[in-house]
Amino acid sequence: MDTPIIRVADLHKSYQLGDVTVHALRGVSLELARGTFATVVGASGSGKSTFMNILGLLDHPTSGQYFLEGEDVSGFDKDRRAVLRNRKIGFVFQSFNLLPRTTAIENVELPLLYSDKPARPAERHAKSQGLLAAVGLGERSHHTPNQLSGGQQQRVAIARALVNDPEILLADEPTGNLDSRTSIEIMDVLQRLNRERSITIILITHEQDIAEYGQRIIAFRDGRVVRDEAVTRTREAAEELRALPPPEVEVAT
Ligand code: ADP
Ligand code: MG
Repeated sequence: MDTPIIRVADLHKSYQLGDVTVHALRGVSLELARGTFATVVGASGSGKSTFMNILGLLDHPTSGQYFLEGEDVSGFDKDRRAVLRNRKIGFVFQSFNLLPRTTAIENVELPLLYSDKPARPAERHAKSQGLLAAVGLGERSHHTPNQLSGGQQQRVAIARALVNDPEILLADEPTGNLDSRTSIEIMDVLQRLNRERSITIILITHEQDIAEYGQRIIAFRDGRVVRDEAVTRTREAAEELRALPPPEVEVAT
């Protein structure tokens, strides 16, 4: 058996708010094989984002262990977490978090400026342009976010998340601000990236139909995993899109 890319054992996370302790995670254990596309579902407050922030090395557990490619990273301090995070993990959020007066390609290039493997401007440019093409935005690389629709902005954010060649892509409700057709398009992009580049993807959503684009659904309730099952027939974004009525003219938001 290959080492799982992610393994967590009995993860707990508590927050102290004055004299109240909030138990965000109450003993989460699971493994993810490299190349998996997993989705995480559950009610608001069930611990999904807390779990993802720990996987993304943005936060550390109160107790329990996190093995990233077999290495126990649970005790890493902030600096070591940051180094590992920049190397291995890309993030996509519900709000696209793009710099407003900056072109798509410059937004994508940005993480390369903070990389520990500095690239020359021409290389940075070529790489970013290639990623924009891979998410279907090759023609719009010189547009600024206000000239792009929400779905297009999220594609830019996905390209930016991939520019340092992460092995893991973490997406916290990436379709939360998008209509259903645009959400399906984003899931299509993510399915392709997962297949073609073998990127491990973990995506939070509170919509069951979106969750079914993944290969495995992990359901949280009150800080615990209450269901974890393979999707027997993964939804295919391409099929869904063909079945939908033609889109309204896309208006930049
Ligand atoms: P979800 O993403 O499923 O909505 P979260 O992981 O954001 O849930 O939150 C789980 C619980 O932890 C909630 O009760 C939330 O209020 C609490 N929580 C999350 N982050 C913090 C924090 N930084 N400080 C205090 N409580 C927090
Ligand atoms: Mg959340």
